[in-house]
Amino acid sequence: MEKYKLLINGQWLEPQSGEWFETENPFTGQPWAMIPRCGKAEVDAAVAAAKAAFHQKSPWRTMTASARGAIVRKLGDLIAANADHLASIETRDNGKLYAEMRGQLGYIPQWYYYFGGLADKIEGRVIPIDKPGIFNYTREEPLGVIAAITPWNSPLMLATWKLAPALAAGNTIVWKPSEFSSASALEMGRLFEEAGFPPGVVNIVTGFGSDIGEPLVTHPDVAKVAFTGGDKTGEAVYGMAARGIKKVTLELGGKSANIVFDDASMDDAVKGVISGIFAATGQTCIAGSRALIHKSIHDKFVEKLLAMASQARMGDPSQMTTQVGPITTRPQYRKVLEYIEIAKQEGAVCRLGGTPAARPECGTGWFVEPTIFTGVKPTMRIANEEVFGPVLSIIPFEDEDEAVEIANNTIYGLAAGVWTQSIQRALSMPARLEAGTVWVNTYRAVSYMSPFGGFKRSGIGRESGLHAINEYLQTKSVWIDIVGNAPNPFVMR
Ligand code: NAD
Repeated sequence: MEKYKLLINGQWLEPQSGEWFETENPFTGQPWAMIPRCGKAEVDAAVAAAKAAFHQKSPWRTMTASARGAIVRKLGDLIAANADHLASIETRDNGKLYAEMRGQLGYIPQWYYYFGGLADKIEGRVIPIDKPGIFNYTREEPLGVIAAITPWNSPLMLATWKLAPALAAGNTIVWKPSEFSSASALEMGRLFEEAGFPPGVVNIVTGFGSDIGEPLVTHPDVAKVAFTGGDKTGEAVYGMAARGIKKVTLELGGKSANIVFDDASMDDAVKGVISGIFAATGQTCIAGSRALIHKSIHDKFVEKLLAMASQARMGDPSQMTTQVGPITTRPQYRKVLEYIEIAKQEGAVCRLGGTPAARPECGTGWFVEPTIFTGVKPTMRIANEEVFGPVLSIIPFEDEDEAVEIANNTIYGLAAGVWTQSIQRALSMPARLEAGTVWVNTYRAVSYMSPFGGFKRSGIGRESGLHAINEYLQTKSVWIDIVGNAPNPFVMR
């Protein structure tokens, strides 16, 4: 079995405890690699390395912004060159479809190109200050050591959303990937030196949140925590970060509504609802896990949806023809099946799936049949809690106001979809929905150029787009007396 090492200060190290843990292939349920189980000692060493690399006289800080940007862009080139390898590792470790990973890894470099290009466009301003004899300007400066904590779904893309802007802005990183998807992070770690990052600029510590989450988040030399994960973990991270008055970005869960009006193109909307919940086996923060369907088209829509969803090809995620892969982790597999039982007990009507997949092509993997419930009431747990699996709740609505009311009546606010041919609705609905992203007549589109993040309990801050660079900068105001007349020292100038 492959036995990985961790990355601190450009060195590949064994964990001081001498402990590794197994990582499993969700398609076979079998372990395939050993991941270092880090503890506080590795966190301290990684933060110290990142702090030294951030120091005023380090090569990272003394480099020009253009040179820094070129290194960030080079990382993009190297990821592109290693896309096949990284995609296969992720498919084996995480069960994500190879087809999806190949697509993501073809696109991930764009974040490094975009933010690498932005590195030397970070500019301060000269303020036309109202005080005579003063020259006042601002500097945009990096924060310092960033703790990047990432989840197991789309591990490299979600890490990239943090690493690309943070590094372009001149920060240094301690990256803690999920214990369920560390292999791809460590494989990507091999590219940092080749790209030209000085040692210590990016460090990777692996292990369990319960072992190293707190020492990392509360470390006094960590300036900011950039976290993606569940809202309960996010709440704990936010609380710990608050003790050190640290900056945070939180990208958390969702219970997004995909709303289909009676004037929608029904075939497109069916595809949109399918892509919202069954792509990535429903294991996406933006899953459109609530389909709100106008009453007048409900039955016909459900019929078409069932016909298409029942044709989804499940099986080996490494095959390009597979459409629905396994659930990534054993605990998540159990959680999805538990939610299906809860929905049945609550009185929702299971119209498709609702069981583990017993298809021969699913082998011994952790597969759950694509599942569709109708008769879901907005008050049911299945309509309110994030399942993070291929389970769709269908809720009928009467009119636009009711659709908005149901869509917004959740603690989350990550994304929403609207399906309509009406220009008026296409414009008015996005303004009424409480969500960080609204898609109209499309779903699950993201770009390095467009800000992404949550309203309400779905998060704080934005990733991607011009907004994201500001999440990793702080503004300094500089005052210079240019006349030399020291004024009365006892009054404010
Ligand atoms: P999780 O919250 O269980 O874990 C996320 C990360 O936090 C992991 O690296 C984990 O080891 C670490 N962690 C756990 N306990 C910690 C602690 N006490 N202190 C610090 N770190 C700790 O989430 P997950 O199951 O890996 O991912 C799925 C969740 O992520 C879903 O809720 C999903 O909606 C959310 N998510 C959000 C986005 C977004 O951009 N909004 C994107 C993807 C996933």
